[in-house]
Amino acid sequence: MPPERQDVLRELAERVRANNDEFTLLESLDSGKPLDVAQGEIERAISYFEYYAGLCRSIEGKQFPYDADALIYTRREPYGVVGQIIPWNFPFVMVSYKLGPALATGNTVVLKPAEQTPLTALRFARELQEVVPDGVVNVVSGFGEEAGDPLTSHQEVRKVAFTGSTEVGHQIMRNAANRTAPVTLELGGKSPFIVFPDADIDVAVESVAGVMYYNTGQSCDAPSRVFVHEDVREEFMDAFLERTQEEVVGDPLVEGTTMGPLVSEAQYEKVTGYLDIGREEGATVAAGGGVPEGDTYGNGWYVEPTVFSEASNDMRVAQDEIFGPVETVITWSDYDEMIRQANDTEYGLAAGMATENASLAHETAAELEAGNVWVNKYATLPPGVPFGGYKQSGIGREHTRETLLAYTRCKTVDIATDRSPM
Ligand code: ADP
Ligand code: MG
Repeated sequence: MPPERQDVLRELAERVRANNDEFTLLESLDSGKPLDVAQGEIERAISYFEYYAGLCRSIEGKQFPYDADALIYTRREPYGVVGQIIPWNFPFVMVSYKLGPALATGNTVVLKPAEQTPLTALRFARELQEVVPDGVVNVVSGFGEEAGDPLTSHQEVRKVAFTGSTEVGHQIMRNAANRTAPVTLELGGKSPFIVFPDADIDVAVESVAGVMYYNTGQSCDAPSRVFVHEDVREEFMDAFLERTQEEVVGDPLVEGTTMGPLVSEAQYEKVTGYLDIGREEGATVAAGGGVPEGDTYGNGWYVEPTVFSEASNDMRVAQDEIFGPVETVITWSDYDEMIRQANDTEYGLAAGMATENASLAHETAAELEAGNVWVNKYATLPPGVPFGGYKQSGIGREHTRETLLAYTRCKTVDIATDRSPM
């Protein structure tokens, strides 16, 4: 029942808190995140477990007064076995995003962490073993085709939740379609950030850089296309390039490092490939553009924070999700054309803007095709606030009450009440 589930989720949060340093170190070693970044994410995961613990108490049915001789009501029932597949960019945060709502609603789970970063999920399984009944949560590590595909194809997995690439999301949806299983998908992005002529430039710079360079650019909602108005282009670029130089690329275990390596060789090949593509397409390399030199960098998949300026929206560096610390800057002058370009992408995860004009902010927020829009900030996602994409960025909203609906089925019960002999 919900009160017991609440206790379980609280207990799990407590246990992570008690082992915070161990989870932090594992996360850093596995993913290449600087220690303080990893620590912040472990704390974030704890707060999500706590949020979903509270949400247990909000599961409700309804009653329908449309027949005088009947009691009609609905129940929200769990699906049974839920399959969940998560990516490598926020390994443990994703565990909390996925297990939280599944357990709050009384489902059992088979969770597959990414092959690159299974350690915190596996470490957490040890706590789960002591807190949840046997079989309720199963952590199955492995590769996508070997472990993920059978999970999403299995007849008895009644609901599937996935965070990862759009390409794999399509495959998962096809598998689920064969047995009419619902899917929650959180996929790729190529999010625009609009700098208006009246913007507070420092706010614009920090909103973009603070997320674009966080986690070495490996965030689905990274603001990877900046649309800067021509009147403030120079001012913005000067400040943004200065901010870019402040990034300290290096060993994640060394204090002061702000940007660790990319997660894997494959990701390194992909990102450095785009550094070449951007040059070939004729974008200007305003910062970075290569890999850092020096002893520290010999054993890791390091890349420099990179800014392509003088880019256009139809370049591949402006259309493809690079998933590295690579910013593409496009200059605009006409509002309608800028909005058209901002929306001219297959993705629609997030967007941002910097302006001091409140009316303009509301108007632009309404025009952008994105599931989340931030104004004078970026990518703050307190637990409870809906997150999810438009278009090819996904289906469903996570982190919020609505998420409970995605993990429960509605049953309508209709009982005759006119049978009393009295
Ligand atoms: P990337 O290519 O950046 O690693 P993916 O979308 O391939 O992103 O990976 C995200 C998650 O999806 C990982 O846990 C991965 O193992 C899993 N995955 C990859 N391919 C499949 C597949 N065909 N079926 C199910 N899961 C998969
Ligand atoms: Mg893949």
